[in-house]
Amino acid sequence: MTTAIGIVMTNNIVAGRLQDQQLTGSPIHFPEDPNDVDTLTAIPGSELVDILAAQIAALAAADPAPVNAVGVAVPGIIRNGVVEDSPNLSQLKGMRLAEDLTRALTGLGIAAPVHIANDADAIAAGVASTHGRLEKLTRVWTIGNGIGYGRWPYVDGVWEGGHVTVSLDPKERYCACGGIGHLEGIMGYRAMRMRFLDMEPEEIFAHAHEGDQRCRDFVDLWHRALAAATASFIHLAGPGRFYFTGHNVGFLDLSILRPYLESMVKMSTLQSFSLEILHPDDETALIGAGVSALRALAE
Ligand SMILES: [Zn+2]
Repeated sequence: MTTAIGIVMTNNIVAGRLQDQQLTGSPIHFPEDPNDVDTLTAIPGSELVDILAAQIAALAAADPAPVNAVGVAVPGIIRNGVVEDSPNLSQLKGMRLAEDLTRALTGLGIAAPVHIANDADAIAAGVASTHGRLEKLTRVWTIGNGIGYGRWPYVDGVWEGGHVTVSLDPKERYCACGGIGHLEGIMGYRAMRMRFLDMEPEEIFAHAHEGDQRCRDFVDLWHRALAAATASFIHLAGPGRFYFTGHNVGFLDLSILRPYLESMVKMSTLQSFSLEILHPDDETALIGAGVSALRALAE
């Protein structure tokens, strides 16, 4: 039997205990009020480590079986336990999160190794685990404020799929990173607000549905951009299944995306891709964080 603790830290922190890669008991949340979405950005990194350690200690104490591994999913560029960049939780940038959390846990008498994963990679791991496809290539687009790209199995690299260039138009400059023509500069929530100063993204999609031409053109562009990025990954790593999730996945219409993608992938050996929308939830990332930590242990 393996026991892992999985945590996902995005707008809030959700932690749960996994027994043989299945969630047991209810996950615990910080802050406790789910509507409280801005709290984490104001908390210094060292305090976030203490909050994580306290959650892990509470879950570890719930059962006498020792914890084999701790996995934490965090947005941003994560390499070897270090948060190299994290635009949405900027206080984490440069932190040696695995080391810091290991130290805090040692102080609480918990000796489990800590593994840090990118949040989109953790979702891919969680989807692979819960769909019984841990031996297959699984790729996930997360459509939220930013656009994340996750893949399982984990391979070393940067994998900032949201920042692939999907347009050569120099006017496409709405990406938060400052890069021209990026996917997130078209699909990201903030980018949409900057493009349509007079409308919220929800209104853009609603008006497109009602036939407003300017909004329809944009909704087409939004789907073509996602098709272009997905087609690029198919041409690099092959076909297979792509999942789409995230709190703005409701904007996505596969019946618009699929024909664009089919127009971009013409080599017959690459056309066996499949597309699936997943309801966003915290549990998938949490399970993926724990599964990634256990897998890292075995390597
Ligand atoms: Zn960018």
